[in-house]
Amino acid sequence: MTCLYLFNRTIVNPEDIFFAEPTMLYKEYGSTGKRISVIGCGGMRLPTPHDHAAGIAILHAARRAGINYFDTAPFYCDDQSEAIFGEALRTMPPSPHPLYLSSKCSHANGADFRRGLEKSLRRLGVPRIDFFHIWCVMDAADWQARLRGGALRAALRAKEEGLIGHICVSAHMSGPEIEDMIRQHPEIEGLTLGSNAINFPYRQQGVTAAHRHHRGVVAMNPLGGGIIPQHPAAFDFIRSPDDPDVVTAALRFLISDPAITSALIGFHSLEEVAAAVRAVEQFAPYPPTHLDAIRRRLTSDFNEMCTGCGYCLPCPAGIPIPRLMDIHNLMQLGATDRAIHDRFQNHWELTPAQAADCTACGQCESRCTQHLPIIQRLKKIAAFPL
Ligand code: SF4
Ligand code: SF4
Repeated sequence: MTCLYLFNRTIVNPEDIFFAEPTMLYKEYGSTGKRISVIGCGGMRLPTPHDHAAGIAILHAARRAGINYFDTAPFYCDDQSEAIFGEALRTMPPSPHPLYLSSKCSHANGADFRRGLEKSLRRLGVPRIDFFHIWCVMDAADWQARLRGGALRAALRAKEEGLIGHICVSAHMSGPEIEDMIRQHPEIEGLTLGSNAINFPYRQQGVTAAHRHHRGVVAMNPLGGGIIPQHPAAFDFIRSPDDPDVVTAALRFLISDPAITSALIGFHSLEEVAAAVRAVEQFAPYPPTHLDAIRRRLTSDFNEMCTGCGYCLPCPAGIPIPRLMDIHNLMQLGATDRAIHDRFQNHWELTPAQAADCTACGQCESRCTQHLPIIQRLKKIAAFPL
Protein backbone atom coordinates (compact mmCIF):
# COMPACT_ATOMS: atom_id res chain seq x y z
CA MET A 1 0.00 0.00 0.00
CA THR A 2 1.54 3.28 -1.01
CA CYS A 3 -0.52 6.18 0.23
CA LEU A 4 -0.03 9.38 2.14
CA TYR A 5 -2.48 9.97 4.97
CA LEU A 6 -2.85 13.63 5.80
CA PHE A 7 -5.53 14.98 8.10
CA ASN A 8 -7.90 12.20 7.07
CA ARG A 9 -7.25 12.83 3.41
CA THR A 10 -5.59 10.12 1.40
CA ILE A 11 -3.24 11.24 -1.31
CA VAL A 12 -1.64 8.76 -3.59
CA ASN A 13 2.10 8.73 -3.29
CA PRO A 14 3.85 6.30 -5.56
CA GLU A 15 6.77 5.58 -3.31
CA ASP A 16 6.15 5.89 0.35
CA ILE A 17 3.85 5.79 3.32
CA PHE A 18 3.15 8.69 5.68
CA PHE A 19 1.01 8.56 8.80
CA ALA A 20 -0.66 11.67 10.16
CA GLU A 21 -1.52 12.92 13.63
CA PRO A 22 -3.01 16.37 14.17
CA THR A 23 0.29 18.14 13.62
CA MET A 24 2.82 15.58 12.55
CA LEU A 25 3.51 13.10 9.78
CA TYR A 26 5.34 9.81 10.10
CA LYS A 27 7.20 7.60 7.66
CA GLU A 28 8.47 4.05 7.83
CA TYR A 29 12.16 3.95 8.68
CA GLY A 30 13.51 1.55 6.08
CA SER A 31 12.54 -2.04 6.83
CA THR A 32 12.60 -1.65 10.62
CA GLY A 33 8.81 -1.45 11.01
CA LYS A 34 9.26 1.77 13.01
CA ARG A 35 7.36 4.92 12.04
CA ILE A 36 9.26 8.07 12.77
CA SER A 37 8.23 11.69 12.53
CA VAL A 38 9.24 13.48 9.35
CA ILE A 39 10.87 16.11 11.57
CA GLY A 40 13.48 14.74 13.95
CA CYS A 41 14.63 16.54 17.08
CA GLY A 42 18.41 16.96 16.99
CA GLY A 43 20.31 17.62 20.19
CA MET A 44 23.37 19.35 18.77
CA ARG A 45 22.29 22.98 19.21
CA LEU A 46 20.41 23.06 22.49
CA PRO A 47 20.87 26.36 24.33
CA THR A 48 22.73 26.93 27.62
CA PRO A 49 24.29 23.45 27.79
CA HIS A 50 25.16 23.72 31.47
CA ASP A 51 21.69 24.85 32.47
CA HIS A 52 19.64 21.89 31.31
CA ALA A 53 16.20 23.44 31.83
CA ALA A 54 16.01 25.24 28.48
CA GLY A 55 17.07 22.14 26.56
CA ILE A 56 14.60 19.96 28.43
CA ALA A 57 11.80 22.41 27.60
CA ILE A 58 12.68 22.17 23.90
CA LEU A 59 12.69 18.36 23.94
CA HIS A 60 9.36 18.31 25.74
CA ALA A 61 7.87 20.78 23.26
CA ALA A 62 9.07 18.60 20.39
CA ARG A 63 7.45 15.56 21.97
CA ARG A 64 4.17 17.40 22.51
CA ALA A 65 4.23 18.35 18.83
CA GLY A 66 4.32 14.68 17.87
CA ILE A 67 8.04 14.39 17.11
CA ASN A 68 9.15 10.90 18.10
CA TYR A 69 12.73 10.70 16.71
CA PHE A 70 15.25 12.17 19.14
CA ASP A 71 18.88 12.28 18.10
CA THR A 72 21.81 13.06 20.34
CA ALA A 73 25.51 12.21 20.58
CA PRO A 74 28.51 12.56 22.84
CA PHE A 75 30.24 15.95 22.61
CA TYR A 76 27.15 17.81 21.43
CA CYS A 77 26.46 20.96 23.46
CA ASP A 78 29.69 20.90 25.39
CA ASP A 79 29.17 17.17 25.97
CA GLN A 80 25.91 17.84 27.84
CA SER A 81 23.41 16.78 25.19
CA GLU A 82 23.03 13.15 26.24
CA ALA A 83 22.62 14.18 29.88
CA ILE A 84 19.94 16.72 28.89
CA PHE A 85 18.14 14.03 26.88
CA GLY A 86 18.38 11.67 29.86
CA GLU A 87 16.78 14.22 32.17
CA ALA A 88 14.12 15.11 29.61
CA LEU A 89 13.22 11.45 29.09
CA ARG A 90 12.40 10.96 32.75
CA THR A 91 9.66 13.60 32.56
CA MET A 92 8.55 13.30 28.94
CA PRO A 93 4.92 14.26 28.24
CA PRO A 94 2.80 11.24 27.30
CA SER A 95 2.19 10.53 23.63
CA PRO A 96 0.47 7.74 21.72
CA HIS A 97 3.64 7.34 19.65
CA PRO A 98 6.62 5.31 20.80
CA LEU A 99 9.66 7.51 21.32
CA TYR A 100 12.79 6.49 19.44
CA LEU A 101 16.24 7.49 20.61
CA SER A 102 19.30 7.85 18.42
CA SER A 103 22.90 8.28 19.50
CA LYS A 104 26.34 7.62 18.08
CA CYS A 105 29.89 6.48 18.63
CA SER A 106 32.88 7.36 16.46
CA HIS A 107 35.40 4.86 17.85
CA ALA A 108 36.81 2.44 15.28
CA ASN A 109 38.15 0.08 17.93
CA GLY A 110 35.51 -2.42 19.01
CA ALA A 111 36.29 -2.24 22.74
CA ASP A 112 36.21 1.55 22.68
CA PHE A 113 32.98 1.44 20.68
CA ARG A 114 31.43 -0.73 23.37
CA ARG A 115 32.59 1.62 26.11
CA GLY A 116 31.14 4.56 24.17
CA LEU A 117 27.79 2.79 23.82
CA GLU A 118 27.69 1.92 27.54
CA LYS A 119 28.48 5.53 28.44
CA SER A 120 25.65 6.75 26.21
CA LEU A 121 23.24 4.26 27.79
CA ARG A 122 24.24 5.46 31.27
CA ARG A 123 23.91 9.11 30.43
CA LEU A 124 20.56 8.63 28.73
CA GLY A 125 19.37 6.38 31.56
CA VAL A 126 17.91 3.79 29.18
CA PRO A 127 18.52 0.04 28.72
CA ARG A 128 18.62 0.34 24.93
CA ILE A 129 19.17 2.89 22.18
CA ASP A 130 16.82 2.38 19.25
CA PHE A 131 19.03 3.73 16.45
CA PHE A 132 22.74 3.61 17.25
CA HIS A 133 25.16 5.05 14.73
CA ILE A 134 28.67 4.23 13.70
CA TRP A 135 29.41 7.92 13.62
CA CYS A 136 30.96 10.29 11.13
CA VAL A 137 32.31 7.89 8.52
CA MET A 138 34.13 10.20 6.14
CA ASP A 139 34.90 7.95 3.16
CA ALA A 140 35.45 4.35 2.05
CA ALA A 141 38.89 4.21 3.68
CA ASP A 142 37.43 5.37 6.97
CA TRP A 143 34.69 2.74 6.70
CA GLN A 144 37.32 0.03 6.16
CA ALA A 145 39.15 1.30 9.25
CA ARG A 146 35.92 0.97 11.28
CA LEU A 147 35.54 -2.60 10.02
CA ARG A 148 39.15 -3.49 10.79
CA GLY A 149 38.87 -1.90 14.22
CA GLY A 150 35.79 -3.97 15.08
CA ALA A 151 33.18 -1.21 15.46
CA LEU A 152 30.59 -3.06 13.38
CA ARG A 153 31.27 -6.34 15.20
CA ALA A 154 30.79 -4.56 18.53
CA ALA A 155 27.54 -3.03 17.29
CA LEU A 156 26.26 -6.43 16.15
CA ARG A 157 27.06 -7.98 19.52
CA ALA A 158 25.32 -5.11 21.32
CA LYS A 159 22.28 -5.60 19.12
CA GLU A 160 22.19 -9.31 19.97
CA GLU A 161 22.29 -8.33 23.64
CA GLY A 162 19.39 -5.93 23.15
CA LEU A 163 21.41 -2.79 23.85
CA ILE A 164 20.87 -1.47 20.31
CA GLY A 165 17.65 -1.61 18.32
CA HIS A 166 19.05 -0.88 14.87
CA ILE A 167 22.58 -0.35 13.59
CA CYS A 168 22.96 2.79 11.54
CA VAL A 169 25.78 4.79 10.00
CA SER A 170 26.21 8.54 10.02
CA ALA A 171 28.27 9.27 6.92
CA HIS A 172 29.88 11.99 4.79
CA MET A 173 30.70 9.47 2.06
CA SER A 174 30.06 9.84 -1.64
CA GLY A 175 27.03 8.20 -3.27
CA PRO A 176 28.93 5.25 -4.76
CA GLU A 177 30.72 4.65 -1.46
CA ILE A 178 27.40 4.62 0.38
CA GLU A 179 25.91 2.19 -2.10
CA ASP A 180 28.92 -0.15 -1.82
CA MET A 181 28.70 -0.09 1.97
CA ILE A 182 25.02 -0.88 2.22
CA ARG A 183 25.15 -3.56 -0.46
CA GLN A 184 27.91 -5.31 1.43
CA HIS A 185 26.34 -4.85 4.86
CA PRO A 186 22.64 -5.70 5.10
CA GLU A 187 23.00 -5.36 8.88
CA ILE A 188 23.14 -1.57 8.44
CA GLU A 189 19.50 -0.56 8.63
CA GLY A 190 19.69 3.16 8.13
CA LEU A 191 21.81 6.18 7.41
CA THR A 192 22.09 9.71 8.66
CA LEU A 193 23.38 11.93 5.86
CA GLY A 194 23.88 15.64 5.49
CA SER A 195 21.25 16.47 2.91
CA ASN A 196 19.73 19.76 1.88
CA ALA A 197 19.11 21.96 -1.14
CA ILE A 198 22.74 23.09 -1.17
CA ASN A 199 24.43 19.74 -1.38
CA PHE A 200 21.60 17.98 -3.19
CA PRO A 201 23.61 17.06 -6.32
CA TYR A 202 26.31 15.41 -4.21
CA ARG A 203 24.05 13.65 -1.75
CA GLN A 204 21.21 12.50 -3.94
CA GLN A 205 22.96 9.45 -5.32
CA GLY A 206 23.60 8.12 -1.81
CA VAL A 207 20.09 8.97 -0.62
CA THR A 208 18.52 7.25 -3.62
CA ALA A 209 20.76 4.21 -3.25
CA ALA A 210 19.80 3.88 0.43
CA HIS A 211 16.11 4.06 -0.42
CA ARG A 212 16.50 1.55 -3.23
CA HIS A 213 18.06 -0.83 -0.72
CA HIS A 214 15.20 -0.22 1.77
CA ARG A 215 17.24 1.71 4.34
CA GLY A 216 15.94 4.59 6.39
CA VAL A 217 17.53 7.95 5.64
CA VAL A 218 17.62 10.77 8.18
CA ALA A 219 18.67 14.05 6.58
CA MET A 220 20.86 16.02 8.94
CA ASN A 221 21.54 19.68 8.40
CA PRO A 222 18.33 20.15 6.34
CA LEU A 223 18.71 23.94 6.28
CA GLY A 224 22.35 23.89 5.24
CA GLY A 225 23.66 25.01 8.61
CA GLY A 226 21.42 28.08 8.46
CA ILE A 227 22.61 29.11 5.00
CA ILE A 228 19.19 28.60 3.41
CA PRO A 229 17.25 30.83 5.84
CA GLN A 230 20.11 33.36 5.78
CA HIS A 231 19.93 33.60 1.96
CA PRO A 232 16.24 33.35 1.13
CA ALA A 233 16.61 35.09 -2.22
CA ALA A 234 19.15 32.55 -3.48
CA PHE A 235 16.79 29.68 -2.70
CA ASP A 236 13.47 31.33 -3.43
CA PHE A 237 13.03 29.19 -6.55
CA ILE A 238 12.37 26.19 -4.29
CA ARG A 239 9.17 27.80 -2.99
CA SER A 240 5.86 27.06 -4.52
CA PRO A 241 3.23 29.83 -4.25
CA ASP A 242 1.66 28.24 -1.18
CA ASP A 243 4.92 28.07 0.82
CA PRO A 244 5.07 30.96 3.31
CA ASP A 245 8.86 31.06 3.41
CA VAL A 246 12.00 29.37 2.19
CA VAL A 247 12.44 27.34 5.39
CA THR A 248 9.07 25.70 4.81
CA ALA A 249 10.05 25.12 1.19
CA ALA A 250 13.44 23.59 2.07
CA LEU A 251 11.79 21.20 4.52
CA ARG A 252 9.00 20.41 2.08
CA PHE A 253 11.59 19.68 -0.60
CA LEU A 254 13.20 17.07 1.66
CA ILE A 255 10.03 15.59 3.14
CA SER A 256 8.45 15.25 -0.30
CA ASP A 257 11.32 12.99 -1.30
CA PRO A 258 10.21 9.40 -0.71
CA ALA A 259 13.83 8.50 -0.04
CA ILE A 260 14.10 10.82 2.98
CA THR A 261 12.54 9.41 6.13
CA SER A 262 13.04 12.40 8.41
CA ALA A 263 14.69 15.82 8.42
CA LEU A 264 16.72 16.26 11.58
CA ILE A 265 16.67 19.78 12.98
CA GLY A 266 19.00 20.87 15.75
CA PHE A 267 16.57 23.05 17.69
CA HIS A 268 17.93 26.03 19.56
CA SER A 269 14.66 27.54 20.77
CA LEU A 270 10.99 26.82 21.33
CA GLU A 271 10.24 29.17 18.44
CA GLU A 272 12.22 26.93 16.08
CA VAL A 273 10.22 23.90 17.20
CA ALA A 274 7.00 25.80 16.53
CA ALA A 275 8.21 26.94 13.09
CA ALA A 276 9.19 23.41 12.04
CA VAL A 277 5.87 22.01 13.20
CA ARG A 278 4.02 24.75 11.29
CA ALA A 279 5.90 23.73 8.16
CA VAL A 280 4.66 20.16 8.58
CA GLU A 281 1.11 21.15 9.57
CA GLN A 282 0.48 22.60 6.16
CA PHE A 283 2.43 19.93 4.35
CA ALA A 284 1.41 18.50 1.03
CA PRO A 285 4.05 16.75 -1.05
CA TYR A 286 5.43 18.67 -4.00
CA PRO A 287 4.22 17.14 -7.25
CA PRO A 288 6.96 15.14 -9.00
CA THR A 289 7.12 17.79 -11.75
CA HIS A 290 7.93 20.54 -9.23
CA LEU A 291 10.48 18.31 -7.49
CA ASP A 292 12.16 17.59 -10.82
CA ALA A 293 12.21 21.30 -11.70
CA ILE A 294 13.86 22.13 -8.37
CA ARG A 295 16.41 19.38 -8.82
CA ARG A 296 17.29 20.55 -12.32
CA ARG A 297 17.67 24.13 -11.12
CA LEU A 298 19.79 23.07 -8.15
CA THR A 299 22.04 21.13 -10.47
CA SER A 300 22.33 23.84 -13.14
CA ASP A 301 22.38 27.02 -11.02
CA PHE A 302 24.80 25.61 -8.55
CA ASN A 303 27.16 24.12 -11.10
CA GLU A 304 29.81 26.63 -10.08
CA MET A 305 29.79 24.82 -6.77
CA CYS A 306 31.80 21.79 -5.82
CA THR A 307 29.62 18.70 -5.73
CA GLY A 308 32.02 16.79 -3.51
CA CYS A 309 32.39 14.01 -6.07
CA GLY A 310 36.04 13.44 -5.17
CA TYR A 311 37.32 12.95 -8.72
CA CYS A 312 40.03 15.56 -8.06
CA LEU A 313 41.71 13.25 -5.54
CA PRO A 314 44.31 12.17 -4.75
CA CYS A 315 46.28 15.35 -4.27
CA PRO A 316 50.05 14.75 -4.12
CA ALA A 317 50.27 17.35 -1.35
CA GLY A 318 47.60 15.53 0.65
CA ILE A 319 45.11 18.38 0.50
CA PRO A 320 41.50 17.36 1.30
CA ILE A 321 40.21 19.21 -1.77
CA PRO A 322 36.47 18.33 -1.64
CA ARG A 323 36.22 19.38 1.99
CA LEU A 324 37.94 22.70 1.39
CA MET A 325 35.78 23.25 -1.70
CA ASP A 326 32.72 22.58 0.46
CA ILE A 327 33.89 25.51 2.58
CA HIS A 328 34.27 27.56 -0.58
CA ASN A 329 30.66 26.71 -1.44
CA LEU A 330 29.63 28.47 1.74
CA MET A 331 31.75 31.48 0.81
CA GLN A 332 30.03 31.61 -2.61
CA LEU A 333 26.65 31.68 -0.93
CA GLY A 334 27.74 34.57 1.25
CA ALA A 335 27.77 32.62 4.51
CA THR A 336 28.77 34.54 7.59
CA ASP A 337 32.33 34.28 8.90
CA ARG A 338 30.88 32.46 11.88
CA ALA A 339 29.28 29.80 9.67
CA ILE A 340 32.53 29.37 7.72
CA HIS A 341 34.50 29.21 10.94
CA ASP A 342 32.12 26.50 12.18
CA ARG A 343 32.54 24.55 8.94
CA PHE A 344 36.32 24.63 9.28
CA GLN A 345 36.55 23.73 12.93
CA ASN A 346 33.54 21.70 13.91
CA HIS A 347 32.38 20.06 10.73
CA TRP A 348 35.60 19.18 8.91
CA GLU A 349 38.23 19.85 11.61
CA LEU A 350 40.42 21.70 9.12
CA THR A 351 42.38 24.93 9.11
CA PRO A 352 42.93 27.48 6.31
CA ALA A 353 46.66 26.71 6.49
CA GLN A 354 46.01 23.29 4.93
CA ALA A 355 44.92 25.01 1.71
CA ALA A 356 48.28 26.82 1.59
CA ASP A 357 50.09 23.49 1.04
CA CYS A 358 48.96 23.50 -2.61
CA THR A 359 51.92 23.44 -5.01
CA ALA A 360 49.74 24.43 -7.98
CA CYS A 361 50.65 21.24 -9.85
CA GLY A 362 47.26 21.39 -11.59
CA GLN A 363 46.44 17.65 -11.40
CA CYS A 364 43.18 18.26 -9.59
CA GLU A 365 41.91 20.89 -12.01
CA SER A 366 42.43 18.57 -14.96
CA ARG A 367 40.24 15.96 -13.22
CA CYS A 368 37.55 18.24 -11.76
CA THR A 369 34.12 17.28 -13.06
CA GLN A 370 32.90 20.86 -12.63
CA HIS A 371 36.04 22.42 -14.16
CA LEU A 372 36.49 24.53 -11.07
CA PRO A 373 39.48 26.85 -10.55
CA ILE A 374 40.61 24.86 -7.53
CA ILE A 375 44.04 26.46 -7.18
CA GLN A 376 42.60 29.96 -7.11
CA ARG A 377 39.92 28.92 -4.64
CA LEU A 378 42.48 27.31 -2.35
CA LYS A 379 44.34 30.64 -2.22
CA LYS A 380 41.17 32.36 -1.12
CA ILE A 381 40.51 29.68 1.50
CA ALA A 382 44.10 29.92 2.80
CA ALA A 383 43.57 33.64 3.41
CA PHE A 384 40.47 33.13 5.53
CA PRO A 385 41.09 34.59 9.00
CA LEU A 386 40.41 31.76 11.44
S1 SF4 B 1 47.01 21.80 -7.69
FE1 SF4 B 1 47.23 21.85 -5.47
S2 SF4 B 1 45.37 20.93 -4.69
FE2 SF4 B 1 45.49 20.41 -6.84
S3 SF4 B 1 46.49 18.39 -6.87
FE3 SF4 B 1 48.12 19.93 -7.11
S4 SF4 B 1 48.81 20.33 -5.03
FE4 SF4 B 1 46.85 19.28 -4.86
S1 SF4 C 1 36.37 17.04 -8.72
FE1 SF4 C 1 35.70 19.21 -8.58
S2 SF4 C 1 33.54 19.07 -8.06
FE2 SF4 C 1 34.44 17.06 -7.61
S3 SF4 C 1 35.09 17.17 -5.46
FE3 SF4 C 1 36.83 17.79 -6.65
S4 SF4 C 1 36.68 20.02 -6.75
FE4 SF4 C 1 34.69 19.27 -6.14
